[in-house]
Amino acid sequence: MARKFFVGGNFKMNGTVSSIKEIVKNLNEATLDPEVEVVISPPALYLQLVRDSIRPGIEVAAQNVFDKPCGAFTGEISVSQLKDSNINWVILGHSERRTILKESDEVVASKTKYATENGVSVIWCCGESLEEREAGKTIEVVSKQLEALKAQINDWSKIVIAYEPIWAIGTGKVATTEQAQEVHKAIRDWLKSVSDKVAEETRILYGGSVNEKNCAELGKQPDIDGFLVGGASLKPACTFWHPVNL
Ligand code: PEP
Repeated sequence: MARKFFVGGNFKMNGTVSSIKEIVKNLNEATLDPEVEVVISPPALYLQLVRDSIRPGIEVAAQNVFDKPCGAFTGEISVSQLKDSNINWVILGHSERRTILKESDEVVASKTKYATENGVSVIWCCGESLEEREAGKTIEVVSKQLEALKAQINDWSKIVIAYEPIWAIGTGKVATTEQAQEVHKAIRDWLKSVSDKVAEETRILYGGSVNEKNCAELGKQPDIDGFLVGGASLKPACTFWHPVNL
């Protein structure tokens, strides 16, 4: 089965009503490739604005969700609330939440399980620090993150994996095509421990300083099935939503 190319835009804690409306306007007017799935992820406050104004065919992702149905969890958003607002995706396990907000592999896996079992698809992020890469531990670190996920997940059909080396996020220091492909291949090989079908069908995105200039080469790698883009997704005129030059 061919894996549909996927481009996610992670706005992080950026944007205003006016700048986000401008991004939506550009996307609504852009010529998009029907073979590319596009999902954008504004801050929680703007999810409904984007959902209500984005063109059909583009999905919207939250940047976090909680793993309880409802109740006394101040500051959190539930899966059912996302679904109530027609938000069908969520980014989980982003390194900023793992490091700054101390979300453990197990917490990320639990949220992923809860979201997918209740009908919300997950862009599940993993990746190593510079120190870990320099110590030759990249595959070990990513495998450990994947093992924690596997311990809680049965159905992988609602999961897209984003490999995001921490040292490449927001730094302008993109992984080489060889570095990225090597880890993506290792992730795909690891997925065979779940099943050959999951290994074949799961999309593995690359994230870390992707922009209009470097996306074409990265996207040609056999195990790179798309991108998760941070900074560049905020540029009003960004064009990598439809990497026509692939
Ligand atoms: C991200 O935050 O997921 C990301 C990849 O950021 P950037 O593209 O800015 O490196």
